[in-house]
Amino acid sequence: MMDGAGGTILYPWEEAPKTGQAIEVAEGVLWMRLPLPMALDHVNVYALDDGDSWSVVDTGVHSRKSVALWQELLAGPLAGKPVGRIILTHHHPDHVGMAGWFMAEQGATLTTSRTAWLMSRMLILDCEEETTQQSLAFWRSAGMDADILTKRAADRPFNFADICYPLPVGYTRMKQGDVVTAGGRNWDVHMGNGHAPEHLTLWSRDDNLVLAGDQILPSISPNIGVYATEPDADPLSDWMESCTRLAKLANTEHLVLGGHKLPFTGLPTRMRQLHENHEGALRRLLAHLDRPRTAGQCFAPLFKRRIDGGVYGLALVEAVAHLNHLHQTGRISRTRRDDGAWLWHRETTSDGPKDQDIG
Ligand SMILES: [Zn+2]
Repeated sequence: MMDGAGGTILYPWEEAPKTGQAIEVAEGVLWMRLPLPMALDHVNVYALDDGDSWSVVDTGVHSRKSVALWQELLAGPLAGKPVGRIILTHHHPDHVGMAGWFMAEQGATLTTSRTAWLMSRMLILDCEEETTQQSLAFWRSAGMDADILTKRAADRPFNFADICYPLPVGYTRMKQGDVVTAGGRNWDVHMGNGHAPEHLTLWSRDDNLVLAGDQILPSISPNIGVYATEPDADPLSDWMESCTRLAKLANTEHLVLGGHKLPFTGLPTRMRQLHENHEGALRRLLAHLDRPRTAGQCFAPLFKRRIDGGVYGLALVEAVAHLNHLHQTGRISRTRRDDGAWLWHRETTSDGPKDQDIG
């Protein structure tokens, strides 16, 4: 494809569906939206018409309000047939939160990737009353602000179960290369990685629809984070690999139905941007590491905006992801500070004066 042929990013609908309502974005495909109690204040969910039942893609968080909103949708735009199947794009609580409710209360089945299933089931079962020493060590190694660390150490930690309905056993696996039928269409299954492991994306063979979850979003870059569960993970490499692979499937006709923000076209352009955003961030970060810094001191080159309380945690895990990536690809070193924080710094060549490599 020639440069610039990726298409302009356009949003066919300027506004999202209102509470309790749905917008039919294509024949038999309904777009609905649920509120979230966090900085990113909404999630998109979709219902696919399977004839005698619905397949619902992603479900929002579990709360009393969420149950009431779903009941309103079930009595409104979804009335007349049951939800037979939940298709879960990835394990994050804003997507999996109500899946167990549909299984327990509505008799729905669950279809997702094996990793999304295992992560969901594990994290919903894993209730911790106190912050673990592993989490504290991880935050210390990231150079978390002392005030925030003290508060987190004292507070009850966040648990998936706080905003996710219990998830019963039993699911149907979707894997790379599968073809699934839903909403009167056949869909190719392509796995994404980086934002969440083994993240489903579904590409219609019969028209231009792509169900993208959080793997491909317009106007915001999906969070790429490292957590105490795997402190040395390099999800950014997984992310870049996914972007490169999925970009080859993209065309200008695609209508992308993502987990947040608005449906859009111009997918080849968006795939290029998603890749370039991180390449740019890595370049700025590398320049910033001309002296040793902790992950908590790397927000300025990465985000180019103020990081306040509501997004501090997300910013920190994303900073660690970028630092792990530079480290594991041999571009920076790290040493332990006395308080346990990693100090990251750019490799300097032994021959030739320092800093000469900055243009
Ligand atoms: Zn997500």
